[in-house]
Amino acid sequence: MKIIIPRIIISKLIEHSLIEDPKECCGYLMGKENEVKKIFKAKNIHKNPVTRYSLNPLDQISAEQYADENKLDILAIYHSHTLSQAYPSPTDISNAIESGWIDPIYVLVSLVEKTRPIIRAFNISENQSVEEVIIEHDGEAYISPTENS
Ligand SMILES: [Zn+2]
Repeated sequence: MKIIIPRIIISKLIEHSLIEDPKECCGYLMGKENEVKKIFKAKNIHKNPVTRYSLNPLDQISAEQYADENKLDILAIYHSHTLSQAYPSPTDISNAIESGWIDPIYVLVSLVEKTRPIIRAFNISENQSVEEVIIEHDGEAYISPTENS
């Protein structure tokens, strides 16, 4: 499984993460089939935004409307980890399953090394299994680091 994220969207993802740092940022990636065409930022309304995220329900409604009007699908939900690796936490996994949003891919941006943000993508299944999704940008393969520490 793979997702195509153009360089310009990768840059915007990193920018959003850095602007919100030390808080986690979050939002949606929209597109067609497996190619992202639009980043839709959302507000993190969690009361502990440095270590958790919660998408503003109003942004969720706007995102779904925007996607409908522009004939796009919500391909991914993204958020940043400012203090940990780009891998879904146990909370991320249970939230994904409890929210029912398991069709989208989960994209994570890690700012552990601020000069070298890491972006990885995952498929979270109902049985809590997490599978990495390969990110491609502008046609070239982007092989993300595989260590999960
Ligand atoms: Zn997380």
